[in-house]
Amino acid sequence: MVCAYCASDVDRHEPVYVTENPTDTEHEAFCNYACLSAYIEANQLTFGAACEWES
Ligand SMILES: [Zn+2]
Repeated sequence: MVCAYCASDVDRHEPVYVTENPTDTEHEAFCNYACLSAYIEANQLTFGAACEWES
């Protein structure tokens, strides 16, 4: 898989997987939390009502 933000191969890093819907089998992959954070900021995403996903 490639990072949803920078398109690098996430398997070369410590990938972070994000699922917006718990019942959804689709998910985004990111190299790390830095890419995840940058992706969210770039896309103004809220990931629904969840506000504890950073931990
Ligand atoms: Zn990345």
